[in-house]
Amino acid sequence: MPDIEPVPLSKLTTLRTGGRPARMIAATTRDELVAALREVWSTGEPWLVLGGGSNLFVGDSDYDGTVVRILTSGIERVPSARPGYVRLRIEAGHDWDDLVAHTVREGLAGIEGMSGIPGTVGAAPVQNVGAYGQEIEQTLVEVELIDETTGDVETVPVEQLGLGFRTSVFKAHYGSVAERPSVILSVTLELEEVGDAPRLVRGEQLGRALGYEPGAAATLRDVRHRVLATRRAKGMVLDDLPDDRADPDTRSAGSFFQNAIVSAAFARTLPPECPRWPVRPDVEVDTVIPLESYDGIVPAASTSAPDVKVSAAWLIEHSGLRKGFSLPRSRAGLSTKHALALTNRGGATAGEIAELARFIQQRVQAEFGLLLQPEPVLIDVEL
Ligand SMILES: Cc1cc2nc3c(=O)[nH]c(=O)nc-3n(C[C@H](O)[C@H](O)[C@H](O)COP(=O)(O)OP(=O)(O)OC[C@H]3O[C@@H](n4cnc5c(N)ncnc54)[C@H](O)[C@@H]3O)c2cc1C
Repeated sequence: MPDIEPVPLSKLTTLRTGGRPARMIAATTRDELVAALREVWSTGEPWLVLGGGSNLFVGDSDYDGTVVRILTSGIERVPSARPGYVRLRIEAGHDWDDLVAHTVREGLAGIEGMSGIPGTVGAAPVQNVGAYGQEIEQTLVEVELIDETTGDVETVPVEQLGLGFRTSVFKAHYGSVAERPSVILSVTLELEEVGDAPRLVRGEQLGRALGYEPGAAATLRDVRHRVLATRRAKGMVLDDLPDDRADPDTRSAGSFFQNAIVSAAFARTLPPECPRWPVRPDVEVDTVIPLESYDGIVPAASTSAPDVKVSAAWLIEHSGLRKGFSLPRSRAGLSTKHALALTNRGGATAGEIAELARFIQQRVQAEFGLLLQPEPVLIDVEL
């Protein structure tokens, strides 16, 4: 088993918090990963798989369990039955942005809007990563996983992964556990072969955020270039620099709070300036009435309005907390570029970051009556 000397999680997470685990394994091949997980699960001890550590908020105490680092990599082309499309199977530990750069070089469209998201490919379906109107759900075909309950390796199609807004059956949301405890070994995407030629910029959100005129055409390279520049201006791209030289606004877990999903009625109680977007309405389900119980009356169709997604950044800023806000004597602070990112300004403990997060939750709740929910996975830390 590739055991390594355990390293404190503060060295491996982008928020720079977390104590030392009791045991650490570095799996560089799929066989090592499968063997390691089966062995760890047989002990019944706590376990955690770690990709790039960019969506984790870990407490200060030492972790009483095994951390398995997923360091596999590789991209393989596999046949697609759909003309004009290509399938890629990617190992879970592969760097997400390296994959995006590869697809752009190869002229494959579908994930270029998600350039610059840190972390690994295997973690991307866990919260259905997305940016500028693209989500992995739109190109994901299937994942290969190992299931903790059975220890079996299975291929599971996208329809069975419960993907939604920053969620899936794999995600342990704060206060609950993952619906399907398992580890993703590889991910298969289906991407459109478009080559180098400019093509219509698809998606209103992408076009608006990147400054394209409606109806504009752009190459995949140009979209990637603009996404990276836009993200960098918000501190949303990690530098490959030592901590003392990197932009301190990047020491975060990305958006710390999720945009809130509320009922249409609740959304009407918020100021009209608060940005909001319709949440995809649920697909209409046909009502089937067995003939023997049909009494001539067809139940009325549901008239409830679809839920609405509201901007958590707007709620934070309009509860009186400006970008760069810090509590007195705290080393945690809101990013100076992005109100949704809680940042470690240097040496902040998880306790300090949690204190800031609670303060923000309380201010937003007092002002707007809504409790913001954290987006990262919380380990051994409470809000
Ligand atoms: C600066 C910055 C910007 C960000 N921008 C975005 C953004 O635009 N959009 C967005 O959606 N997210 C964003 N994020 C969040 C984060 O990058 C993504 O969620 C990313 O997919 C996490 O990958 P990771 O490898 O770092 O996961 P980790 O943080 O290592 O793990 C996250 C969770 O997934 C689990 N996990 C990891 N690998 C696997 C696996 N193979 N199988 C099963 N479970 C696994 C872990 O146990 C943990 O529970 C941002 C983060 C930062 C720091």
